[in-house]
Amino acid sequence: MEPIPEDWQRGLVIVAHPDDIEYGAAAAVARWTDQGKDIRYVLVTSGEAGIAGLHPRQCGALREDEERRSAAVVGVTTVEFLGYPDGRIEYGPQLRMDLARVIRQHRPEMVVTANHRETWVPGFLNSADHRAVGLAALDAVADAANEWIFPELTEPPWAGVRWAAVNAMLGITHAVDVTATVERAVESLCEHRAYLEALSDEPVLDQAARQIEMSTGPKPGFDAERAVGFELYVYGG
Ligand SMILES: [Zn+2]
Repeated sequence: MEPIPEDWQRGLVIVAHPDDIEYGAAAAVARWTDQGKDIRYVLVTSGEAGIAGLHPRQCGALREDEERRSAAVVGVTTVEFLGYPDGRIEYGPQLRMDLARVIRQHRPEMVVTANHRETWVPGFLNSADHRAVGLAALDAVADAANEWIFPELTEPPWAGVRWAAVNAMLGITHAVDVTATVERAVESLCEHRAYLEALSDEPVLDQAARQIEMSTGPKPGFDAERAVGFELYVYGG
């Protein structure tokens, strides 16, 4: 397994919900910001349907706040929310256009997103929102570069994305050595305190440590104690 290329400066992480980054890619984000890279987050929803017993009207603002704290722990200060309805994101031209717009605005060389496949592993369904956002983010890279697909966009086309890295469990082609940053990934996930407290009686730190342990296991053929895996897509080459 190959290391993810790191000869780039700006990365844009596009996911559906607060916590999607923290369950997987945040350890890699911490490594990249340590290298001086500029990483920004775009969240398609505010995760307002994510806490049982808490009405979306209260939940959305709370989860946005938790996401901003999580981001700050790994060196990310730009966090945007697109306001799509949590749980009801539809794949289609509107979503592709909105993601093409944010790619044009942020002009990244690397796009990071989460698993867009139907399952995590056979028998475990991936959510409808994750499927829609992951696939639309991959498509939006080409849409952002083309002046004719969404002529209503006012930002100039951006053809500078060189890779998209999809954080997944299966089908991974590349990895990032996160041995030095797993602890910060745990701290980052812990910032989703209200969400994790509602999820389980297990203490937040224990939940977070267990999740990060699972998502940063050593990867076959990759020489690192802790690693995060990605399926890497190459553009423009
Ligand atoms: Zn999610």
